[in-house]
Amino acid sequence: MSTQTPALEPWQWPEEHWRRLINHVRAGRTLRPRRWKDNARCAVALSFDSDHETNELRDGGKSIGRLSWGQYGNRVCVPRILGILHRYDVRATFYVPAVVALTYPDEQRRIVAEGHEVGIHGWIHELNSILPYEAERDLMLRSADALERTTGLRPVGLRTPSWDFSMADEDCYELLLDGAPTGIVELPVEWVRDDAVYFMMHRFQSLRPYTPPTDVLDVFRREFEAAYEEGGIFQLTMHPHISGYRSRVWILEEIIRLARAKTDVWLATHAEVAAWAKAHAA
Ligand SMILES: [Zn+2]
Repeated sequence: MSTQTPALEPWQWPEEHWRRLINHVRAGRTLRPRRWKDNARCAVALSFDSDHETNELRDGGKSIGRLSWGQYGNRVCVPRILGILHRYDVRATFYVPAVVALTYPDEQRRIVAEGHEVGIHGWIHELNSILPYEAERDLMLRSADALERTTGLRPVGLRTPSWDFSMADEDCYELLLDGAPTGIVELPVEWVRDDAVYFMMHRFQSLRPYTPPTDVLDVFRREFEAAYEEGGIFQLTMHPHISGYRSRVWILEEIIRLARAKTDVWLATHAEVAAWAKAHAA
């Protein structure tokens, strides 16, 4: 007979246990400036997660079709997106797994040469929250090194692949670790402002796009307009291989047009928005 205490069910946990789980990583003080740069009322931070082939590789897959979907992201979608950003003189942030940077170094160099930010997005899009601490730290630092070697710039921002991280607000905030301030600024993402939620498709699973592009624009537009009214941040995540299609990329252009139609909107990289929020928090 086993002498081990059987694992408790969640409804049996002592209060101390569930409190420790909740308080491990928390949103701390809000970093909300009264005004954004150039006295802007609202900050718009556009981002593109250039996952390319790593979505397939991360899952241990070797499907030629799905890997070529990643190459489509590089060949067609990133240039198409960069063209739109250039046309409207908008700078954005690209989060790039190290494996993607090593596969397509010219893509990353062009992104940086055109004034955009490249941030860390894992090594091979691994799920950070199931890794041992040492492995997660090692991959993060090696990813930063790979991006720096590729672009010549040390990345300052991290977006965890598949987003198992803090997203407790719409404003920036300082992260707390076990109750202690960390000095790390979170610029929170949100699934509702992510194209993948609406558009992802998998041939051999039941996953299908279920929201028409016009409705996706409607969600993003409402998020932007409310952020503008509140004087906050509109942060948006798109993926080149998901939103770069001819029938979808106009959503990006329309969002930029809406932002550009107002004179007091600051379009900036995530690094710039986070730095401003930290330096000018009210
Ligand atoms: Zn990703």
